[in-house]
Amino acid sequence: MSKVYLGENEARSSIDWLNRNATTTHGNAVFERVENILANLKALAPLTGKPGKVDESALQSLRSSLEQYKLYPSVDFDPSGILHLTFYDEDDPLSSVFGEGFNVVLNLYHLAQMGVVESISRCPICSRWFFSKLPQHTCCTRECRKVFEKTPEQKRLRNERLKRNRRIEKERDSRFKKAIEYSKPKARSKRGSK
Ligand SMILES: [Zn+2]
Repeated sequence: MSKVYLGENEARSSIDWLNRNATTTHGNAVFERVENILANLKALAPLTGKPGKVDESALQSLRSSLEQYKLYPSVDFDPSGILHLTFYDEDDPLSSVFGEGFNVVLNLYHLAQMGVVESISRCPICSRWFFSKLPQHTCCTRECRKVFEKTPEQKRLRNERLKRNRRIEKERDSRFKKAIEYSKPKARSKRGSK
């Protein structure tokens, strides 16, 4: 069994919703609004817990997306029989189904509070949404990763990384050599003082 990361289970319903709605023509405006909310929550995420530091444009954009909702509260059972308070969205006919509509926004907000909203990523190769377990996981699967690494931009970045690593290694080597040189006469003078 593979390791479950913090927020991975909680993010599942939103990721499923994004994948279902990104590929259908249903409620494009609804989808775009959620996509925009997600992008702004991700933009605000690095500043969470840092009082006084706010990305004003992301905050304003988030507010104006939220202001578009025409919601009313209701209660409904989820598939496991638990009663939930949900918000029905007048613009979204599917919002009465559990895991749809504004519930997705509430879930994204919850993920932002958990500090894991940045893990909701879109694969640059197949465009599917997925939970990125580590910041360097840019693709949804190993197959997409292989394709991604072959793109000219990634090849260029990889060469840059290798060059930089070689330079750092060289500098470290020369520092190490200098340190050895420096320690030699010191050791001699210690012996001499005895
Ligand atoms: Zn993919």
